[in-house]
Amino acid sequence: ATPSPSEYLSRLNPEQRAAVETLDGPLLVLAGAGTGKTRVLTTRFAHLLMTGRAQPHQVLSVTFTNKAAREMRERVGAIIGRPVEGLWLGTFHALAARMLRRHAELVGLKSDFTILDPDDQTRLLKQVMEAGGVDMKRWPVAGLMGIIQRWKDRGLTPGRIPVAETSDYANNRAEALYAAYQARLVALNAADFGDLLLHVTEILRTNPEVLERYHRLFRYILVDEYQDTNLVQYLWLRLLAQGHRNICCVGDDDQSIYSWRGAEIENILRFEKDFPGAVIVRLEANYRSSRPILAAASGLIAKNEGRLGKTLRPGRADASGEKVRVVSLWDSEEEARMVGGRIEEAQRAGQDLSEIAILVRAGFQTRSFEERLVTQGIPYRVYGGAKFYERQEIRDAIAYFRAMVNPADDLAFERIVNTPKRGLGDTALATLHRAAREQGVPLRIAAGGLIQTDALRPRPRAALRELLEGFARWHAGLESLGHVVVASQILEESGYIEMWKLDRTPEAPGRLDNLKELLCAMGDFGTMAAFLEHIALVMENDQNAEGARVSLMTLHAAKGLEFDMVFLPGWEEGLFPSQRSLDEGGNKSLEEERRLAYVGITRARRHCIISHAANRRIYGNWTSTIPSRFLDELPPDEVVREGAEPVRHIPSSVFGAGPLSSQRRPRLIEAGAWEVAARPAREGGFAAGQRVFHQKFGYGRVIAVEDDKLDIAFEKAGQKRVLDRFVDPA
Ligand code: ATP
Ligand code: MG
Repeated sequence: ATPSPSEYLSRLNPEQRAAVETLDGPLLVLAGAGTGKTRVLTTRFAHLLMTGRAQPHQVLSVTFTNKAAREMRERVGAIIGRPVEGLWLGTFHALAARMLRRHAELVGLKSDFTILDPDDQTRLLKQVMEAGGVDMKRWPVAGLMGIIQRWKDRGLTPGRIPVAETSDYANNRAEALYAAYQARLVALNAADFGDLLLHVTEILRTNPEVLERYHRLFRYILVDEYQDTNLVQYLWLRLLAQGHRNICCVGDDDQSIYSWRGAEIENILRFEKDFPGAVIVRLEANYRSSRPILAAASGLIAKNEGRLGKTLRPGRADASGEKVRVVSLWDSEEEARMVGGRIEEAQRAGQDLSEIAILVRAGFQTRSFEERLVTQGIPYRVYGGAKFYERQEIRDAIAYFRAMVNPADDLAFERIVNTPKRGLGDTALATLHRAAREQGVPLRIAAGGLIQTDALRPRPRAALRELLEGFARWHAGLESLGHVVVASQILEESGYIEMWKLDRTPEAPGRLDNLKELLCAMGDFGTMAAFLEHIALVMENDQNAEGARVSLMTLHAAKGLEFDMVFLPGWEEGLFPSQRSLDEGGNKSLEEERRLAYVGITRARRHCIISHAANRRIYGNWTSTIPSRFLDELPPDEVVREGAEPVRHIPSSVFGAGPLSSQRRPRLIEAGAWEVAARPAREGGFAAGQRVFHQKFGYGRVIAVEDDKLDIAFEKAGQKRVLDRFVDPA
C-alpha cells in the first residue's frame, strides 16, 4: 500500500515538517548534528514525489559520499513504497561526470573520455613541464599540481586567473603550464577529477541553451553537508538553481571539516545574499545522542569563536544516559586492548557489532586496533580506505622486506623492482623475465646473472645492480642492526620514502605516517622473520564472511553517520589536534580540529569512549605524550574519567616542567625523521622497597630484584614476578 503523506510527516517535529513542506523557493536548514537534517532531505524528496511536484529524475540531490547516496535512495524508496529509478542522486563528482559525458564535445572531449587517476595526472603534468623546459629539480611537479588543484576547486580556467590568485611558481609560468596541461588532457580525451565540475560549470556558464535545459529538468535541488562545498561546487549549484530557485541546502557550520580540500564555509553565509527571500529553518532537537553526549559535544564546540551559533537540545525521550568516558591508558597497546575488551564485553551483552565504530584522527592509527580485533577474532571493516596491511605503501614495504629475506620470492621482487621508478622499463623487465625462465631460476637470481652481461642497457643495468647490492647489504645488517633499523634503511636507501615525500597528492603525508607506524609495529617482533610470519597470519585472518562488523574509519569519513557505541582513541596533543594543525599555528586550523572532535562525539547514540595513551612508540622508541587540550575542554559534569593518570616512560625532565609551550610538546610525528633509535635503557635499576607502576598490574612495591625480573607486591593484583621493562618508578 502506498503510504499517505500524513504518515511520514508525522515522524517529523514541527520545524522539520516546515522544512519538508516549504517546497517552493530557496531554503536553508542550518542546524547542529543529529537534528534530522538528512532525514528532512530524504522526506522532502519523498514528499516531492508523493505530491506530484516532480518526477524522480527532476530532482537533483547531492550527497557527500556514495554510501550516503545509496542510503537516500533506499529511504526514499521505503517512504514512497516502491524503488526509485533514474535519479540524479550522488556526489558532486558522480553527478558532474554524468553531465559532462552528455556535453563533452562542448569542451572538446568525447563522451567516452577517461578519468585520470592521480598517478596519470602526475605523469602527464611532468611531460608538460619537460616540454616547457621547466627545471623540475627546482620546481617540483607536486607544487604545480597543488596550484592547479586549487584553481580548479575555485572554478578558475586558464586565462581567467585573477591577479590575487596568481602564483610565482616557475617564474610566473604556472598559468601557462596549466593551459598546456589542459590542452594535453583534451588531446588525450581525458579529464582529471578536478576537471569534472570545472568543465561542467564552464559549459553551463557559456552555453545558455544547455543551462536552460537543466533549468527545465531540475525542478528541485537538494544538497546535504552544504558546509563542506568548495567554490566550484557552489558555482555549479548556483547556476543550476537560478532556474526554479527551488534549492534546499542543509548544513552545520560546526561540522565544516574539509577546508583543506578547498571547502568554504562562506558558502553558507552568503546563501541568503545569493537567494534573496530564502527561508532559513533552524532545527534544535537532537534525536541521535543521549543528553550527556550531546552536552559534552556542545560544551567542546562552544570553545570555537568563529561560529554562527545554534541551540541544540536533547530530543530523545530516553535521552538520559551514560556519561562520556575518558579513559587514560599507559600506551597505545593498552589502548587497543581496552577498546578490544570493551567491544567484546558489549558483544557478549548482545550489542550489534555494526553499531560500533572506532574513529581515528589519522589513517595510520587503525593498525593497532586492527591487530587487536584480529587477535580477538572480531570482524571489522575499514571504511574510506584499505585495511592497514592492504594499503599500497604497506604492501610495497613488505614486498621489499620479503624480497630481501627470500631471493626466490618473485611476487615481492616484481612488485618493487621498479618502485620507485629506477629506469627499469618494459624492455628491461622482459629481458629479466626471459632470463629467469630460460635458466629456471627466480627473478632475483637471474638479475644477478644479467648484470654481469651486457644484455641490459647501461642505465637499467646500473639500477638493477644497485638494488641487488642493497638487498645484500640490508640482509647482512639484520643480525647486527636489528630488523627495525634495517627496515628503515631499506625504505630510505631504496628511494621509496623519497618517492612519497615528493608526491604532492593529499594522500602522501598519510602514507608516510603509515610507513612510520609499520616500523613501530615491527618493534613488537623479535626478528624480521617473525614479523613477516605475523603479517601473513593477519592477512589470512581476513574474514570475508558476511555479517555485522565493527567499523573503523577516520573522523573525516564518519560525517553524517551514527553508531550506538563510538570509540575515539588517541586524544593527544600532536595527534589530535594534529601536529600539522599546531605547526600551522593560528586559531583557524585548531578550530577545524575542534569541529572534527565535535563531529566525532556527535556520531554516538549511547556510548562515547574517548581515550588517550600516555606513551606512544615511535620506531621502538617511547615518547611520552600530553593529553589533548580537547579533553580539558569537555564539561567535567558530563564526563567520567577512568584509569589513573599513568606514569610516563620518559622522565619529565626531558621535556621540562612548567607550562607546556609548543616547543616543549613532544612531537608525535616527526616529519622527515627516519632514524631509528633503540629504546633507551632505563636509568638505574630498581631496589627492594621501591614503589613502582606496572602497565598491566598497576601500583605495587618491589620485594626482590633478580636480573631483569622483579617480584612485586601489587596493591590490587597481588604478588607477581614481572619483567622490569614493563615497570616504572612511581
Ligand atoms: P548530521 O549533522 O550528523 O548529519 P543530521 O542532522 O543529518 O545529522 P539525521 O542523521 O537526519 O541528522 O538524524 C539523526 C538521527 O535522528 C537519525 O537516527 C534520525 O532517524 C533521527 N531523527 C531525526 N528526526 C527525528 C524525529 N523527528 N523523531 C525521531 N527521530 C528522528
Ligand atoms: Mg546528516
